[in-house]
This record gives sequence, structure tokens and C-alpha cells, in this order.
Amino acid sequence: AAHDQDDLLSGLNPQQLAAVTYRGPALLIVAGAGSGKTSVLTRRIASLLRGREAWPSQILAITFTNKAAGEMRERVAGLVGEASRGMWISTFHSACVRILRREAEQFGFTKSFTIYDSGDSRALIKRLVKDHEADAYGLTPASVQGRISKLKNELQDSESYARDANMSDPAERKFVEIFADYQRRLRKANAFDFDDLIGQTVYLFRAFPKVADTYRRRFRHILVDEYQDTNHAQYALIHELTRPVSADAPDPYASNGMMIFEPETAPELEGASLTVVGDSDQSIYAFRGADIRNISEFERDFPGARVVLLEQNYRSTQNILSAANAVIGNNFDRKDKKLWSDRGDGDMIVGFTGYSQHDEAQFVADEVEMLRRAGMPYSEMAVFYRTNSQSRALEEIFIRSAVPYKIMGGTKFYERAEIKDALAYLISVANPADEMSVRRILNKPRRGIGDVTETAIARFAEDHGISFREALSMPAQLGVGPKIQAGIAQLDAVLKEATEILLPASGEVPPPTSVADGLSLLLAKSGYLDALRASRDPQDEARVENLDEFVAVARDFARNNPEGTIADFLTEVALVSDADDLDDESGSVSMMTMHTAKGLEYDAVFVTGVEEDLIPHRISAGEPGGPQEERRLFYVGITRARKRLHLSLAMTRAQFGEVSVAMPSRFLQEIPAELVDWRQSPGDVNSRGGMQSRALNARRGGFGGGSSSGGDRFGVKKLPPRDSLKPLSTSMDKFTNKVTGKVRDNGDLELAAGDRIRHDDFGEGRVDAVTGEGAKRIAHVRFDSAGLKKLLIKIAPIEKL
Ligand code: ATP
Ligand code: MG
Repeated sequence: AAHDQDDLLSGLNPQQLAAVTYRGPALLIVAGAGSGKTSVLTRRIASLLRGREAWPSQILAITFTNKAAGEMRERVAGLVGEASRGMWISTFHSACVRILRREAEQFGFTKSFTIYDSGDSRALIKRLVKDHEADAYGLTPASVQGRISKLKNELQDSESYARDANMSDPAERKFVEIFADYQRRLRKANAFDFDDLIGQTVYLFRAFPKVADTYRRRFRHILVDEYQDTNHAQYALIHELTRPVSADAPDPYASNGMMIFEPETAPELEGASLTVVGDSDQSIYAFRGADIRNISEFERDFPGARVVLLEQNYRSTQNILSAANAVIGNNFDRKDKKLWSDRGDGDMIVGFTGYSQHDEAQFVADEVEMLRRAGMPYSEMAVFYRTNSQSRALEEIFIRSAVPYKIMGGTKFYERAEIKDALAYLISVANPADEMSVRRILNKPRRGIGDVTETAIARFAEDHGISFREALSMPAQLGVGPKIQAGIAQLDAVLKEATEILLPASGEVPPPTSVADGLSLLLAKSGYLDALRASRDPQDEARVENLDEFVAVARDFARNNPEGTIADFLTEVALVSDADDLDDESGSVSMMTMHTAKGLEYDAVFVTGVEEDLIPHRISAGEPGGPQEERRLFYVGITRARKRLHLSLAMTRAQFGEVSVAMPSRFLQEIPAELVDWRQSPGDVNSRGGMQSRALNARRGGFGGGSSSGGDRFGVKKLPPRDSLKPLSTSMDKFTNKVTGKVRDNGDLELAAGDRIRHDDFGEGRVDAVTGEGAKRIAHVRFDSAGLKKLLIKIAPIEKL
């Protein structure tokens, strides 16, 4: 067996080896970024399987995103092949959904419950805030949603909360009322919100010890990645799963050969072995209730736990690592780690100060192209920012420079209205108790059903003790006009027809294509697609394409899950998270927030907007521990880079139509000067007119390379006061518009290879080739002094000579 493990263990350093091979009840691996924590977890699973110490079905591994889960599953399969099938490698949420789908009937839900994403729960809460007239008490849907979520992460419900709350405060009473009502509505709709998925699973295990025991008996090895970001509910879940199993616990898996014990003879079992890996320096979800203490108190919670520290970083060059170490060293109250790398010093970190965010974006685009020419694929580059709104300027310049990019976690496919409508149709079939979904499709497409009819249906349902959905089957009794009756009857008929496809009679196995077929039928026979096709709104064309894409997703699902049901499909869709939007096709630069970047790595990383009020973010200033959490977030950002790290900022930033002066982030001053090669807006400063150069000069002493030291190096004190720049804002707006090309539209400018053109920034050049079509035509231009550039003809600031 030792020989079998050779390839699994080769190349590991002694600490990693210890972590992979240790066998015992509890193992904690703590280490800084890039030290191989996730890799060790993967090898540990493979090693358990290879040595036949565990069946695949006895392994439960928890990752932070579905994408990370997929990668881990693939790697384990690469190491042990077929032997890996049947493992549970998933996020907390997915694991809990799987458990709840099996067990929800124990406590009054059905298998086909709906999962409310945060948009769905927001919609419900909004209605409740209105119904309870709570805005008079200063309660907004956002604040109520935030508080409920936080409480659920603490495993509190409205009753337990009410016990501790100051109920003489009317606003508190209102909040508790809404919280309770919200829970009632969820239950009535046979639905769980995101936080419930974890919290209700914990509840299930506590209320039904026998159920808990079946899972305790099943999962003998539990492994958790990114443990520093677990919240209390997740922590409790792990605790429940790792308790010892009592002797008479039933074993539902005995029959399919996965387990070796017969139920009657099942002996007592020790608790599962637990492995967690984490880095308290990368804890970035405290605002969502993540608790760093879950790491620091691990040894107390799991006595006898073995602790392994990893100190070698295999990801980044020493320069990048030194910068990261220096920054995080400024957080107090942390254990110092000595992270080192043997990848050599590598390139210097590149710093860039632009005049505006468009300068900054142009710098990023130029560097990306430079690296690309040097042989680095786009897919190995990533651009990070603190908030999603920062992506706009970057996107504009990327489009203009024809740099292919991909936004992770932007407006998500599944948040589009037409996709939500399609989902509501599916849910109305799969879970007719979910009134929100049925109401959503009532008048989509238009059937003449307005508020009055909706209220009439609701009242009829209530009077007769039936569900909203059931009321639709009795249109003649609703007391509405014949046209509306016909509309309701048509909807009812479509839903029934789809039910036969999607939910065949019990015992009958639906064909694998049922989900896609059911979806197509719903979209076609409801008239939804026809209404979009008949519309003159150009957006509706895109909506039809998105729906086609959604049907394709359903077909893919059928291919990958031949036995998948409609409930499985809805689960998969509901659990797609930010980082999962990643397109695996390799041809584009990834853009994302620093939160989304956790756990990922790229050859080249651009951290943009490294300014006060962005990172650290303004909202963190007032929060206890806020600035420290921001520093960890910045640490996460810079430690994603393997070879090249770029830190950039703009001196002025236009947001919401206002231009303000930005200050360099305090974190920049924490990076040793000799590690950074500072640059500014390129030599075209002069061509951009006196105002900009003046502004740059005001900074120049400060940002000109690492000659001076300390805070002065960044010229923080030398910046002109905010007010002195204010009067310039109109001319700056013009400047901004010029750079973004917002006021530019070249229409159908004719261009062909050989033409000479002039570009506002790059000067004169000759067109090498024109590719693409319509609004996406791209000119490949060889500039006399600026080199080869790709320009989007429609909006580039160019003229033909
Ligand atoms: P993070 O804290 O960012 O999640 P991590 O500790 O999980 O990082 P990994 O992602 O597992 O680190 O590893 C970082 C990189 O180092 C990966 O590319 C991995 O393949 C590589 N690596 C890990 N261990 C070794 C090793 N012993 N030899 C060579 N490369 C290694
Ligand atoms: Mg990791």
C-alpha cells in the first residue's frame, strides 16, 4: 500500500506529508495563502480512497464554491479514477439541500421545496414590510433582510430573538412580527431561503437524532476548506455531523452495499474524523457572520486535535509574497506566520497612478496586451476591484481595446427577469405551494389578470382552504369576467400538461429529457415566447436568446444527470454562485471583486482602485474590525498572483456623475518601497493638456519611484485639497467623456487595410486589417509610435486621414 501511495505523496514537503497521512479524530491545517491547503485536502481524500481506508460514500468534503467543488472532484478522480464516484464534494449549501431533499418530509416540507435566493426573499420581505406598515418604524426591506439573515446564521429564530430583544421598543416588536411572518410564509410556500438551508438542517439533526445518526454513520471523513469563513450555523452543522453514533442508529445505506454494517448489529461508532484547513488572515466574511474564532478555538472544541502549519508558499514569487507579508503584518491580534517561497524574487510589483479611472483602465488594458504578446494567455490574467460598480470603466476600455474579458458575479444570468419567469413556471409545477412563483406568472404573458383578480383568487383560496394554485383550476367560481376566466383556464391547462411531463406518476421514471421538454412546453404553450417574439423592443430579442440558452442548460443537465429530476435541476440552478459564473473557455481575462477571488490563482493579477474609501472601503470605517477585515481582503487579492502583480489607482474617480479626488490606500504605504516599480499616466501627459499635467505634477514628487521613504513616498500630504480641484469638474467631465468614448459614435466609418488614421491618444497609424462585423468591427492598427493596437471602430476616438 505504501508503494501505491508514492505518486500521491511525491513532491509534498514534510508538513504537507504529515497533513496528508495523519490519521486521527481531528486535524487542523493552518497556513497562509498559496501554501497548498486545498491541494493537501485533495490528496488526503485521494489517499484515504487509495488505501481503501474509506468508501467514497463515507467522504464529505466542503468547499467554498461549486466550482471549487468541481475542481476538487476532478483532481481526486484524476488521482484515483473510478474509485472516487459517490463522494460528496460540495458547498455547505449543496450538501444541505441534498440532505433536506431526502429528509424534509420529516418536518412538514415536501421533497420538491423551493429555494429562495436573496432576490426572492427580498421580494417577500418587501411585501411584508409594506403589509406590516413597518417603514414608519425605520425598517427597510434591506435592513430587515440583513438582520434576519444574520440571526439565522446565529441559529436564532423569531421566538428566541424575541426573548432577548427589548420588546418595549415598537420598532423591535415590528421586526419580530415580520420575522415570524416571513418564516410562516416560507413554510406555507414549502420554501427555504439560503440561510435556512443550513439552519434548518441543523434543526433537523437536533430534533430528529435518528436522522442525524444515519448521516453520522455514513460520513466517516469530513473535510472543510476555507474554514476561517464558516459562520456559527455551519460550525454547528459540522459539530452535529461529527458526534459519536449511538448503537441503534439505523443504517439506510446498508442495503446498497455502501456500508458494511447491518442495522440490527450496528455498533457504536466514534465521531467522524474531521479535517479543516484555513487561514485566519483570509477571513473576509465577518460581515456575513463568519467567525474567525472557529479556527482559534478548534483545539478546544476538538480535544486532541493535531495541528499542522504550512510555511512554504508554492504560488507566488518572493516579491509578491514579501508585499503580502508586510501588509498583513499590520493587523494586530494575529499569529505571525513566516511564509516563504523558492520561486525567486521574480518581477517587481508594478504600481500605476492614473489621472482618472479611465487612465487606470487603459493602463490595465495595455499591460494585458503586453503580457499577451509576451505569451501569457488571457485566461491567466485577472482584474480585481472592491465593488462591482468599478467594473464599468474597465469594461469600456477593454471593449475599445478589443481585450476579451469575462465578468464573474456581475448581473447574473439567473437574475434576469425572463429567466426568473421561466423558473417561476417550472416551480409552479414542481412546488405548487410556492405562491410567489404562481403569482409571478399569473399575468406573464398578459392575460388581463390584474391586482383585482389576483386578490380575488387569493381570497377564494383562503375561503375554501385550498392553495392559490388550486384556485386556478376553478376559474368559473372566482367571480371574474369571461375573458379573464379563459386566461386563467389556459394557464391552468399549461401547468397541468407540464406536470405530466415533469412529474410523472409515482414509480414511473421520467425520461432524461423531461426537464428540457417541460420547460420548452411551458414557454411555448403559455404564449410567453410568442409575446416576446411579437414585441418590437430590441431587448426582447435578447430575452428570447437567453431563454434558448436556458433550455440548452436544461438539456446539458439531462446529459450530465440522466436520472436528474426537476427538483435536482432547480437545486442546481438555485445554487449557482458568483465564482461559478466563470467560463472555462480559456480566451478571456477574468474580472471580479476581491471577495469572489478567494481560493483562485492567476499568473498576472491587477488590483485596481487601491484608494482610500475603496480599499479600505468607506463602509468599513465605522465597523468594529472593519479596516482589519479590509486589509485581509487586500491580502487575499494580492496573494492570488503567481508572477505579476499590478496595483493601480486613479487620482480622480467619477462616480454617480460626480468627480472626486482619491487618496492612495493606506495599504500601499505598508508595502516596502523597493518592491514596487511606480509608473504614472504614460508619456502622453502633455497631449492631454495642461490641467491633467498640473494635477499629475502635484503628485509627482510623491509617486516617482521608491526614492523617498515612509508616508511621504505616497505624497498623501502633498495632494491638493479636495476643494481646490472641485471647480475643474466640468472640464474633467469632458475629459472623462473623451476617454471613455461616451460621446463618440463613428457610425459606419468605412475602414480597410492600408488606410491611415489618427487616434486622439495614439497619434497616426496605418490599418493592418479589419475584423468583426457591425458594431463589433475591430481595426488592427499599427501606430507610428504607439505600436499595434486593436480598436473598436464604432467608438474609438479616431478619424480617417
Ligand atoms: P489559498 O489560501 O489561496 O486558498 P492554498 O493554501 O489552498 O491557497 P493551493 O491552492 O492548494 O494553496 O496551492 C497553491 C499552489 O501551489 C497551487 O498551484 C498548487 O498546485 C501548488 N502547490 C501546492 N503544494 C505544492 C508542492 N508541494 N509542490 C509544488 N506545488 C505545490
Ligand atoms: Mg485554497
